[in-house]
Amino acid sequence: MNTEIKIFVPATVANVSCGFDVLGFALDTVGDEMMIRKVSQKGIKITKIIGQDLPLETHKNVAGVAALALLAKTDTNFGFEIEIIKNIKPGSGIGSSAASSAGAVWGINKLLEGRFNTTELVQFAMEGEKLASGVAHADNVAPALFGGFTLIRSYNPLDIIKIPTPNELMATIIHPQIEIKTADARKLLKENISLKEATKQWANVGGLISGLYSNNYNLIGRSLQDYVAEPVRSTLIPGFNDVKKTCIDAGALGCGISGSGPSIFALSKGEKTALKVAEAMKAVYDKIGIEYDIHISKVNKQGIKILDIK
Ligand code: ADP
Repeated sequence: MNTEIKIFVPATVANVSCGFDVLGFALDTVGDEMMIRKVSQKGIKITKIIGQDLPLETHKNVAGVAALALLAKTDTNFGFEIEIIKNIKPGSGIGSSAASSAGAVWGINKLLEGRFNTTELVQFAMEGEKLASGVAHADNVAPALFGGFTLIRSYNPLDIIKIPTPNELMATIIHPQIEIKTADARKLLKENISLKEATKQWANVGGLISGLYSNNYNLIGRSLQDYVAEPVRSTLIPGFNDVKKTCIDAGALGCGISGSGPSIFALSKGEKTALKVAEAMKAVYDKIGIEYDIHISKVNKQGIKILDIK
């Protein structure tokens, strides 16, 4: 039995325009690293967090809460220590809390020789998400744990579908350094939407899924439209409309808000276009005078990766 594992845990983009609360995908070039060690003392101890100022107390850290949810379903007489190298800034809208929740349960499960299946791991990781945002949502932890694109078809019972990803699909993400509280972004949403809007939304979800299955980049692009969250949430992100226009002009298939923002994602066919899109996004925020981080990444089909195990 292995006793120590070091993993890469990807950042994730949730919602993906038309897929509000149900779709997400994993990134390759931005993520956290986690070290998980089996120890004789029962329970979960977070020993170190590098890169961000986050609580070390097990019950206040999403990694601790998710790991405890998993341990509660075992009768092990040992425990685990967790170390986190935090590269994904909390509150960026690319699944910072989800990475810690997903990484903790995935790593522990490896050291327990795969006792739980991936859907069960999502269920444990959702407890971490509940701590971060008050809602046990799965749209970031599912792509982190399954890799690629995921669809949450149902929460009760939890039914997650992994969707294939065309090989040349690239994401460009810009994180303008402004703060949006997830709770504020939620408050803006309407309680009800019209049947006309709902019809357009589910038509696009079907189109996007079909485009992903059939490598139809044009269809993916046509389907990246959101009638539910983007019209209201985009008002919280300065420059959003300009970014969207300039991305499409630069050749992106589509562009939208990542999670509840403030990060904005664009999908492109091929790296050359993804790089052009990055330049276009940067130009908007350079002009407005808002600092940003930018990431260019393939869609990560694998999800969490082992860096070392012993
Ligand atoms: P994101 O959408 O990028 O995950 P959220 O705002 O949803 O960002 O979650 C971040 C919140 O979760 C912050 O309040 C942060 O203090 C809390 N948190 C607790 N543990 C962690 C952790 N290990 N990683 C990231 N955020 C954490």
